[in-house]
Amino acid sequence: MDKALDATDRCVMCGMCLPHCPTYMKTGNEAESPRGRIALMQALNNGQLGPDENLTGHIESCLQCRACEAMCPALVPYGELIDAAHALLQSNNKQHLRLAELFRRAFLKHRVVRQLSGLLLIGYQRSGLQTLTRKSGALELLGLARAESIIPRQRRFRLEAGANHRPHKSQSVALFTGCVAELFEHETLAASRLLISALGYSVANAEHQCCCGALDLHAGRSPQALTLMQRNIEAFAESDFVVSSASGCGAMLLEYPDHIDNSESRTLAHKHFDISTFLLDHWNDDVQLEPLYRHVAVHSPCSLRNVLKCSQQPFELLQKIPGIDVVELPGNELCCGAAGNYMMTHPEMADSLLQDKLEHIKEHDIDTLVSSNIGCALHLQAGLRREGLDIEVVHPVTMLARQLKGNF
Ligand code: SF4
Ligand code: SF4
Repeated sequence: MDKALDATDRCVMCGMCLPHCPTYMKTGNEAESPRGRIALMQALNNGQLGPDENLTGHIESCLQCRACEAMCPALVPYGELIDAAHALLQSNNKQHLRLAELFRRAFLKHRVVRQLSGLLLIGYQRSGLQTLTRKSGALELLGLARAESIIPRQRRFRLEAGANHRPHKSQSVALFTGCVAELFEHETLAASRLLISALGYSVANAEHQCCCGALDLHAGRSPQALTLMQRNIEAFAESDFVVSSASGCGAMLLEYPDHIDNSESRTLAHKHFDISTFLLDHWNDDVQLEPLYRHVAVHSPCSLRNVLKCSQQPFELLQKIPGIDVVELPGNELCCGAAGNYMMTHPEMADSLLQDKLEHIKEHDIDTLVSSNIGCALHLQAGLRREGLDIEVVHPVTMLARQLKGNF
C-alpha cells in the first residue's frame, strides 16, 4: 500500500471532470478518464489489480495536464496521485543503466553537457548532415525520425543582452533556464534577460542550476527528481527572485515543497514567478515598445493554466505592444498533446490533439502563435511545419523584447 494513493478515496465519482479530460473526450473510454484512472489506482493500491499491461497503459496514457484537478469539486489532488501511481509502476520495473540513460541524466544535471549538445546540434544542422541523414532513411531505421522532426532550426537572432540598461534595483533576479529551453530557446532566454534588465534588475547567473525534475518525477523516477530539486534549491538560495520562462518548469518549482518539505524549498517556491507575471508586476511605463501590426493567437499551456494559474498574464503583457491584435487560441482549455515527452511516447494521441489546434489555427487569420512553454511550442511548430503553414511560434517575452526601443 502506498500512502500517497490514499487520497484516491477523496474522489466521489461524480464524473464532473470527464468532459474536461482530453483522453476521455477522444476515446469515450471510462478507463481513459480521470475517474476511471483513479479507480484503477485504488485497485492497484489495495491489491485488487496488479501492474499489468492494461492498467499500466491507462495510467501512462494520461497527459498529466491536470485539467481534471483544476475543476474537481472534491479537490482530489490528481497531480500527486498520478505521480505516485507512476512511481509505484516504475518500482516494478527493472532499471538498466544504458548509455542513453547515462547521457539523459548528465544532460539534465550538468549545464556543460547541455551547452556541448547545443553546439553539436548547430553543427548537425549547419553542416548539411541533417539534410543527408533525413534523406538517407537512417532516422527511420533507428526509430529517431519523430524526435528529430521536432528539433527546431537553430536561428540567429538580434536580441542583445541589455547593454543599454544599468541595474538600479537592489534585488537580484535569477533566470531559471531549464534543460530543454537551454538547448532550443536561446532567444527566449535572451529576451527574458533583456526585459528584466530593462526594468532595472541585475540578472544573476545561477551556474549550478539543472533540470527542474519534472521529466523524472512525472515518469515515476522520484529519487532522480529529488536530486535535481535539491540541487536547484541550493543553486538559487542567494537570489531575491527566481523567474522561469517555461511554464512546465515553473509549475514544478512551485510544487517543490510538496516533495521536499523544508523552509529552503518553501522559500524557493515563494520567490519564484513565471516571466510574464514578473514583468507585469514590475512593469515600468518608461520602457518603450515599437508598434507591431500582427494577428497573434495565444496558446495557453496546461501548466500555466491549471497549476501556475496565470494564463491571462501573457495576454496582458502582449497588449503593451502598440498596434498588436491578440486573441485566445480557441480550444485552449484542452491540452495540445505535447505534455513533456508524451508527444514521443504516445504519438497517436499527441497528434490527434495537435490536429485540433491546427484546425483552429487554420480557421483564423493568425500570423504568429505564442506559447509560454517550450514543449508545447516545439510540438505546435512541428505540426505547423508538417502542414506547410508559415506561422511563427514564439514565447510572449520574445515578441515583447523584439519591440523594445533602442536595443538594436
Ligand atoms: S476526480 Fe473529482 S470531478 Fe472527477 S469524478 Fe472524482 S470527485 Fe468527481
Ligand atoms: S490529467 Fe488530463 S489527461 Fe490525465 S486524467 Fe486528468 S484531464 Fe485526463
